[in-house]
Amino acid sequence: MRKGFFLAAALLATVSHASMAMAQERFEVLLKPGAADQPDGVGHVYVTLRMTGVDAPAGAPLLTLPVVIANTATVATTLTELKASDAAGDVPLTYKDDPVSLVYARHWSAARPVRGDLTVSYRAPIDNTPPKRGSGPPYQLRTEGRGLSAVGNTFILLPENAQPYDVQLRWDLSSLDAGSAATSSYGDGDVSLGVGPAGRLARTVFMAGPMHRYPQTAHGGFSAVWLGTPPFDPAPTMAWTEKLHGWMTGFFRDPAEPPYRVFLRYNPINAGGGAALTNSFLTTYGKTGSGEALKGTLAHEMIHTWTSLDGLGQWFGEGNAVFYQGLLPMRAGLLSPDEYLADLNDTARRYYSNALNDTPDDQIAPRFWEDTRIRVLPYDRGAMYFAVLDGKIRKASGGERSLDDLMIEMVERERKGLSTSEADWLALLIRELGQAGPDLHAAMLRGELMLPESDGFGPCFTRTTGKVRRFDLGFEPKSLVGDVKTIRDLKPDSEAAKAGLRNGDVVTYAQALDGVQGNPQAKLNLQVTREGKTFPISYLPRGEEVEVYQWARAAGVPDSACAR
Ligand SMILES: [Zn+2]
Repeated sequence: MRKGFFLAAALLATVSHASMAMAQERFEVLLKPGAADQPDGVGHVYVTLRMTGVDAPAGAPLLTLPVVIANTATVATTLTELKASDAAGDVPLTYKDDPVSLVYARHWSAARPVRGDLTVSYRAPIDNTPPKRGSGPPYQLRTEGRGLSAVGNTFILLPENAQPYDVQLRWDLSSLDAGSAATSSYGDGDVSLGVGPAGRLARTVFMAGPMHRYPQTAHGGFSAVWLGTPPFDPAPTMAWTEKLHGWMTGFFRDPAEPPYRVFLRYNPINAGGGAALTNSFLTTYGKTGSGEALKGTLAHEMIHTWTSLDGLGQWFGEGNAVFYQGLLPMRAGLLSPDEYLADLNDTARRYYSNALNDTPDDQIAPRFWEDTRIRVLPYDRGAMYFAVLDGKIRKASGGERSLDDLMIEMVERERKGLSTSEADWLALLIRELGQAGPDLHAAMLRGELMLPESDGFGPCFTRTTGKVRRFDLGFEPKSLVGDVKTIRDLKPDSEAAKAGLRNGDVVTYAQALDGVQGNPQAKLNLQVTREGKTFPISYLPRGEEVEVYQWARAAGVPDSACAR
């Protein structure tokens, strides 16, 4: 019954798109992956863009692509064979870059006026060499398992103007192995994105090649795809993820299970890292590891699809995703209370031992990439803020209400097209807690310590303390920013100095520092270049021992009381 209804609705939607498209300019993207050159980790994809209704004077910006986005280099400076033409013939293109900063773009313009249909094509190179810039989200083009994957924001030039386009995606798989297929965040093969901003392509995941799938045939909103051979069978973990997605659909009161795709790929730098994108998430695995290890990321990224709301800072989206990443799977019966506790204590340990955990919120964005201890604050402090808030709401309402009610209300506001600003959030806090709500919020933004009550995570858990050696690189963290990383301000008594690192050493590394910061046993492995020689230095990036808050199982409380 339900299925039939949605099928009919989908057909109607297709018809109305088709009639609207007649009045719409089109933006068509054709992707033609080159033969996958797996052993060398290199390859390419030919991209052809067709825009209708162009009317641009000479020198007007036509197309753009970030050069660097989220510390990730794109193909803006490495693409080749760039050609453009309109009805009058070849269009010579020139480009200009924004000033170099954390996020900056290249802008292409034509040397003469352009009218009507514009066709632009180029070859985007693929190179699996770990990026020099260090850790970033897994956006870049990669080749593996005789196919490729990428996020649009690293390789698809987009129109400079913000006008709506009827966006079409086409694939040419003729250079790939027989049996190859293509998919994206918008579905399998050639698809229409409908009318809207062309910028949607920037948040789209693309994958093509001999793909593996779970389930073999999709029966709900959930599906998963991957290339190559991960070091574990993804199917059982994807079955777990599918169950969780169904459960969360109910929790967030979605009227129907929304389409949701998991794209799995190899990550040489930050195995387990992921990125939430349109209707999908991209998650990654390393040379070793298990599906179990992915579950935290899978839950975290899935939560983003409901609770990443416009108009709110990172403290909101990342904070609630960390707060709920163990809690919702435990409530769904998909994680044990002890597994939930371990995840909670990882967050608590990293937050309470963080030497910079009093950094005000307004300093986080400008300093986001310069120091991992700042980068993790929206996650860790945000999660503890939501935990404190949850405890206060439960207490104030005599157990009748919780953070869930506010979170679901915000999600429903977005569903109805209402604003989801910080002011809207504060209004909910005032309703629940009076002035104590905004006061807590302001304290969080100022950088004050967020400390849940002993029973802040329910009757099953009680607050305690533990000891941990504080994360400390042993040198100025900004040494690790940018393409060339030169060690400076080395502390003479640090583990780094003891391991032989020196000021002036040029280093590279292939690890995610937030992961190293979160794991007290994790060593930092640097490739050091000094006086023309390159050699490894490995050390435990830890300093003084500090006391941190932790939670433990309360004696005599059964598992059944933990999920509330
Ligand atoms: Zn996140």
